[in-house]
Amino acid sequence: MLLSQAHRLMAAGEFIEAGAIFERLARGAVEREIPRAPFLFVQAGKAYLEGGEKPKGFTLVKHGLKMLADAGRWGELYRLGHRTLAVLEEKGFTEESARLAAWLEEILPERSERATAIRLQDKTKHAVLPTACPTCGGPVDPAVVTWRDDVTAECLFCGSMVRAEA
Ligand SMILES: [Zn+2]
Repeated sequence: MLLSQAHRLMAAGEFIEAGAIFERLARGAVEREIPRAPFLFVQAGKAYLEGGEKPKGFTLVKHGLKMLADAGRWGELYRLGHRTLAVLEEKGFTEESARLAAWLEEILPERSERATAIRLQDKTKHAVLPTACPTCGGPVDPAVVTWRDDVTAECLFCGSMVRAEA
């Protein structure tokens, strides 16, 4: 599975190779109108950033987030946007993080009722998920995934259901 290979390359520090596969999968997902395309673009962007191709990486991250905004997927944009900011900061991409923060500030309906609802939803307690998706091996980030119920979330990358371990 190409997606598993990309996750493995990313974990092994082969960022450019991983980025190229994520980007290819993202473009394929757009053609087939798969809702996971934005997450694949953001992941491709992170890979290129870590691989040292900063302008390309930043463009891809923003492209993925913009797709969520254009589709009105505010909850996902809020979660993925803020998580991505934290990751960029943590990895020392200060300039990119500041640019992204300014853009998010502009684009997110921060004061709307919907945004408030999203923040409340984020505070609810959920079960502990495995750290990697059993199907594609992608990282499972409880702060970003879409929860289907208290113990089940959907993998951002392959769409399979990830269940909390009993
Ligand atoms: Zn998966």
